[in-house]
Amino acid sequence: MNFLITGAAGFLGSALANHLSKQGHQVRGLDDLSTGDKDALSPDVHFTRGDVNDRPKLWTLLQDVDVVYHLAARVSVPESVLYPREYNAVNVGGTVSLMEAMRDVGVRRVIMASSGAVYGDVPHALKKGEEAAQKITEAIQPNPRSPYAVSKLAAEHYIRTIGALWGIETVSLRIFNAYGPGQGIPVSHPPVVPHFITQTLKNGTLVVHNDGKQTRDYVYVDDVISALTAATTAPGLDGLVINVGSGRETSVRELVNAVTEIIPGKAEVIYNPRVSGGVSRMCADLTLAKKKLSYKPSISLEEGLKMTLEKDARFNLRLGVTS
Ligand code: NAD
Repeated sequence: MNFLITGAAGFLGSALANHLSKQGHQVRGLDDLSTGDKDALSPDVHFTRGDVNDRPKLWTLLQDVDVVYHLAARVSVPESVLYPREYNAVNVGGTVSLMEAMRDVGVRRVIMASSGAVYGDVPHALKKGEEAAQKITEAIQPNPRSPYAVSKLAAEHYIRTIGALWGIETVSLRIFNAYGPGQGIPVSHPPVVPHFITQTLKNGTLVVHNDGKQTRDYVYVDDVISALTAATTAPGLDGLVINVGSGRETSVRELVNAVTEIIPGKAEVIYNPRVSGGVSRMCADLTLAKKKLSYKPSISLEEGLKMTLEKDARFNLRLGVTS
């Protein structure tokens, strides 16, 4: 098949592009390299540097494409608080530009990387002691708490609405906290998993916001890729949003323990009660993903952390691994 992946040089985009091209598909990648790294892509991926708002470029890249994966976005929650206009322009405006161009060219299917962040805090779904009720289903009313989350929710609505108007099949996968080799570690707002790994390897300090009891659903990149690729051809997805996570709830305290057990050292853990831990609990209900995508996450947090260490050259160097 012929694919276009926006945001192809990013963490998830490059893993997806390399996976699809390894399977023999024709893969075009678009990325403005604002955070992505072109060198993460295999030479078989046809890469174009450009902005997802550049419709003439999209018209060219979309010729003969069967399915589009839309991953290009600004992805930091704290950064979005500072620059909401930019998040709106790229995450919402870029999505609308892509949908217009798909309509113009006649491409029939798009799979968008949305986010579990759209749910925000949903305390009514997370009563303590009720395990089944703790998981977040797609039926829960989103309550976005950051410009990033709003932009993802708006993008979901745009692709579904424009898709329905023009006969384009759309599906949004609400990915929870993905991690794995190659994830970006920007200095100002690093994602928690690679940040804790880096700090532990340096015998540095792990700063835990608030009491560290806030939970997240950490999902390994290979499981995310299996959900994205299953969405390529699965029937009956049109207009849906589908959760993609591990289905397991892990507190930040537990994450610290998991990382420091795998990387023994002298890292110091500090709790900062003055900083909000953000949304208090996050855990994806995966019933719909199982039904529609036959999705079954297979990698535990411990396994995923070990694979991240083994496969990411930045960490290997610090561990002294030479091959
Ligand atoms: P990433 O930052 O590594 O990838 C995003 C890519 O988009 C980058 O390579 C960046 O250069 C590119 N980009 C940004 N603005 C662009 C523009 N205007 N034009 C073209 N390219 C542009 O992030 P990621 O973690 O790989 O996330 C990929 C997608 O998955 C995003 O849409 C993100 O919202 C979504 N998502 C990620 C996670 C996660 O935990 N990683 C969770 C939920 C959703």
